[in-house]
Amino acid sequence: MITITQARERVVDALSPLDTETVTIDDAALGRVLARDVRAAGDVPPFPCSAMDGYAIIAGEAGRTLAIVGESRAGTPSARPLADGEAIRISTGAAVPPGATAVIPQENVLANGGQTIDTAGAVAPGDNIRGAGEDMRADTTVLSAGTPLGPVELGAAVAAGVGTLTVARRPRVAVLCTGDELRAPGEPLGPGEIHNSNAPMLTGLATRAGALTGPAQRLPDDRGATEAGIAAALAVSDVVIITGGVSVGPHDHVKPALSTLGVRELFWSVALQPGKPTWFGVAPGAQLVFGLPGNPVSAVVTFSLFVSPALAGLQGAPAPRPPRPDAQLGVDVRRNPRRDQAVRVRLESGDGPTRAFPTGAQGSHILTSLLGADALAIIPTGEGRLPAGTTVALEALAR
Ligand code: AMP
Ligand code: MG
Repeated sequence: MITITQARERVVDALSPLDTETVTIDDAALGRVLARDVRAAGDVPPFPCSAMDGYAIIAGEAGRTLAIVGESRAGTPSARPLADGEAIRISTGAAVPPGATAVIPQENVLANGGQTIDTAGAVAPGDNIRGAGEDMRADTTVLSAGTPLGPVELGAAVAAGVGTLTVARRPRVAVLCTGDELRAPGEPLGPGEIHNSNAPMLTGLATRAGALTGPAQRLPDDRGATEAGIAAALAVSDVVIITGGVSVGPHDHVKPALSTLGVRELFWSVALQPGKPTWFGVAPGAQLVFGLPGNPVSAVVTFSLFVSPALAGLQGAPAPRPPRPDAQLGVDVRRNPRRDQAVRVRLESGDGPTRAFPTGAQGSHILTSLLGADALAIIPTGEGRLPAGTTVALEALAR
């Protein structure tokens, strides 16, 4: 058995980032990972502009009477420069006319029937003016390669003057769920059958991690069907995620099928609870293959620890991080003498340090232990109990 860290290193070492493509910001950039830095095409704001609705004037003391000689609106600058003794009406975001050195807010003037204003307060040079380039300077880097693109990043790219972005190709992920006992959502269950809860979880997690996924395929516990199903998935995927059937029972056909298909094993068995019988290898076409345990909690935990970093790495992004690096246990937790435990925890931040509370029973079949969980707390291998108050490392729980 290898440690969680060793297993994750093997995954990350085995992958090469996918190639890139150029997409328009409007259509296809959300959720992608930036592959080339974005630099500002020009200064942002592009010109000195007003921070307030008011009047562009020459800075000076209160009590002056100035003639209103024009207007600068957002999108329609004043055609006329400003001279001493004059004011130009100005809207927020409108260009400050040449000659003006400050903007006096509307509420600080007395307007005399639209012809003149009396300044009711003093203004210093630069007051209420946003300088060109205060947000972004021309040709500086605004977003770095490797940044996952959310709505705010797309806004910054558009402000920087960019219309298309170079991003990593989305990894194509196939999810295969093995098990004769599995039934589709809502189907009535016969004797010994269960619903295939791994299917929506793994396809959903992969999609949220930036992958292109189709519906999960179900494979019966049959050697030939397992091999054919994996071969078909490998033909169209960058990553194949298989759940169940990866142990050594008489009906576990995943390992021998992978071996026949020439998928090279890089590990099988991690010192991890839940998630010990996790398998990872690389296919002849460089596809990554994960054999995750069938139990739903084990599948989500091992997806979080091993598949998430792989999908991020393929797209050139850093592995997802937990909400914070560590937390103090809120209660005692029994240790496992042979394996590190990934305990689903709810984080509570109050006045003191952040505390981690297990989300109830932690069996690998207790799917409800994932509900409301904020992170995985790693309880290191050992004897006895880890007392409340002990600081434990957190890992990101894929959601
Ligand atoms: P296996 O790894 O195939 O031995 O499965 C371990 C346990 O997980 C068994 O109780 C299975 O019934 C259960 N299981 C396997 N696959 C799934 C699935 N897709 N959804 C829900 N439970 C599953
Ligand atoms: Mg099975």
